[in-house]
Amino acid sequence: MVLFCFLVDQKRIVKRTKPVAGSCSRCRRGASVADIVTKTRFCFIMPFYWRCNKTILCTFCGTTLKTYP
Ligand SMILES: [Zn+2]
Repeated sequence: MVLFCFLVDQKRIVKRTKPVAGSCSRCRRGASVADIVTKTRFCFIMPFYWRCNKTILCTFCGTTLKTYP
């Protein structure tokens, strides 16, 4: 018997933020540089898939301004 599971669980965790020069294009407030960890889990069976990006985002409205690979 083969079980197919399409359940994908993804979480975005902001690890730390630091104020950075520049402002948000949407709300004109200060932007922050953040380390974002994207944690993906398939089916509770497959190992976790981690991806860590450095992202510049606005901590006020949550807009992502720039993402570094
Ligand atoms: Zn903003």
